Amino acid sequence: MNERDSEQVAHSLIGRGYERTESESDADVVLLNTCSVRDMADQKALGKMGMLGRIAKERPHVVFGFLGCMAQARGSSLLKNLPHVDLVVGTQKFHRVADYVDNVLERKRHRAMDDPRFSIVDVEEEAGSQSTIREQQLARKQATAFVSIMQGCNMHCTFCIVPQTRGAERSRSIEEIVTEVRELVARGIKEVTLLGQIVNLYGRHEFPRIDNKSPFVQLLEAVHAIDGLQRLRFTSPHPIGFRQDLITAYRRLPKLVDHLHLPVQSGSNRILKAMHRTYTAEKYIDLVQRVREARPGIAITTDIIVGFPGETDNDYNQTKKLVEEVQFDNAFVFRYSPRRDTPAAAMIDQVDETTKEARNHDLLELVNACAQRLNQSLVGSTVEVLCEGPSKTNRSRLAGRTRTNKIVLFESAEERAATFIDVRVERATGFSLYGTPIAADVATAIAAA
Ligand code: SF4
Repeated sequence: MNERDSEQVAHSLIGRGYERTESESDADVVLLNTCSVRDMADQKALGKMGMLGRIAKERPHVVFGFLGCMAQARGSSLLKNLPHVDLVVGTQKFHRVADYVDNVLERKRHRAMDDPRFSIVDVEEEAGSQSTIREQQLARKQATAFVSIMQGCNMHCTFCIVPQTRGAERSRSIEEIVTEVRELVARGIKEVTLLGQIVNLYGRHEFPRIDNKSPFVQLLEAVHAIDGLQRLRFTSPHPIGFRQDLITAYRRLPKLVDHLHLPVQSGSNRILKAMHRTYTAEKYIDLVQRVREARPGIAITTDIIVGFPGETDNDYNQTKKLVEEVQFDNAFVFRYSPRRDTPAAAMIDQVDETTKEARNHDLLELVNACAQRLNQSLVGSTVEVLCEGPSKTNRSRLAGRTRTNKIVLFESAEERAATFIDVRVERATGFSLYGTPIAADVATAIAAA
């Protein structure tokens, strides 16, 4: 979601004649779009902005700003120890950034050296802001795009700062989203990912259920019907509100990819309750089973927090048990990080860092072993890859993803970005598959066989 928001801001600045630079030391405007979900992300952004103070001394005309979640949560307090910061812009105001940047630049241009410092802080709520994230700059031969369908979250999980930084749930209309996706497809996009903090509860406050289908399933159907769109993803859903109409959508909508990222957070019912995640481990496992029945072979990934306040060895072992039972294709494992003004941060039975670290390490081993085993089982098979272009770590290789969201790396003499390629998998790690493209005629023969 942050990537998508950053793109929106970049697009609005480019629209006014700004250009991207390779390095911040060449830039006249440096904006850090921040994340607050863990304390480490906050500290990284603060450290980075502190380091940028060096540029501010050498080039005083440069505009520096914090955007996004940390800006929203901390507001003008961010100006205190970082005197070169000119802008603090919250999560409902990304569309105003270009105006603010112009404004600050103009002030700096005409400012006498002894003028008082001028800065802009805007972290107010703004009605309709969910509809302002809608245009994007596409790279040449871009294959995939994110589409923001809603903002905010009303769930108030006790560990999470998002309801404070992103506000209450607000959804765009189906028509507006379909128009955006249609335009992206006309510009060459093959796959879209619908984004929301709690994506399956899209539209629940604004739009009615129709024919027993939730607004989210209605949206999936409408986007699925767009000619030329080939793959449809969404992230992230909540197990609550993941009802039968959405499970059935996996039977009816073939463009819906064979991958579901379904955060579980813990396998202990006691901890789930303390987290204010209002499902049980048994209900989660049952949901996964029903999705797998509707879409055999679907890859399931998840998020898990270890070391939540009060988590005992027994609770942690319940999480391991769930991970073993579900056999996730992969999982993001996080050590619990207390966030200011969240109920969990005030809980008295905080888990010590050594225990968190040990559980994190132990669980990652379990998750990686399963990911490795599942990926290994694909060696020798042929997978359909949507090529996204050169690999970020090795530009001589191409990279893309399967419908199951596995990263595939392969060599090819031709430029293949934004095309579908059949790749024979030859090697696998827990994170990636490595293979060789097979010629189209061979692929057809294999398919026929
Ligand atoms: S559902 Fe997700 S975004 Fe919303 S409060 Fe819970 S963890 Fe945070």
